[in-house]
Amino acid sequence: MIELKTPKEIEEMKPAGKFVGGILTELRETTKVGTNLLEIDEFVHKKIVDRKGAESCYVDYAPDFGTGPFAHYICTSVNDAVLHGVPYDYTLKDGDLVSLDLAINVDGWVADSAISFVVGNADPSDLEIIKSTEEALAAGIEAAVAGNRLGDISHAIGDVARSYGYPVNLEFGGHGVGHIMHGDPHVANDGKAHHGYKLRPGLVIAIEPWFMKTTDEIYQDPKDGWTLRSQDGSRGAHSEHTIAITEDGPIILTARD
Ligand code: MG
Repeated sequence: MIELKTPKEIEEMKPAGKFVGGILTELRETTKVGTNLLEIDEFVHKKIVDRKGAESCYVDYAPDFGTGPFAHYICTSVNDAVLHGVPYDYTLKDGDLVSLDLAINVDGWVADSAISFVVGNADPSDLEIIKSTEEALAAGIEAAVAGNRLGDISHAIGDVARSYGYPVNLEFGGHGVGHIMHGDPHVANDGKAHHGYKLRPGLVIAIEPWFMKTTDEIYQDPKDGWTLRSQDGSRGAHSEHTIAITEDGPIILTARD
């Protein structure tokens, strides 16, 4: 069921968005060659412990697309890992492409956001796929206005992927956000313009384009039962914001400084 939020509830969601956006901003600055993925996880854990009213959306999360509780505080997906990367004892190397995906509940409201970046010297093609997901996210947000339809967001994202020549996986995409992390509607990363649910003020969704360079197929890493990797080993990137559709247009709740 699609739930609409009142303007007051959207106000109440802002602290969660600010908290998640702030943590990702810090991690973007502090994550370097030599950073261990478990340090990133511990950094987020500590932030959550220190913030009254904050709860991890991930640590006990056990949906049917994963294997048991996630048991960590942030998703760290490196190189051919694109989504749901379980942090493990791995020290980042020069040129690694890192995606961080973070969802936290603050005072009963969830915010969900993701960023991708390269540590050290970047391969230009890695920077390009990151840029494509950022552009697709911006295009999706621009289409997220009352009166448009869900398919307009999907189509805007898919158009950017096409312009770069990246295939699009439709299995995982954006979603409704509220008291829980994953609600209706599903926001596919490609679709038909002018089709689907009519967007209206009060709809809060995560928009999250993620692309892989040369495939739209993924597999689950049997080592942890969670991490999704590209079938052909090509690298992927992921950009995500939680946004609220209002009378005055979309508000990015997880905006970073
Ligand atoms: Mg997310």
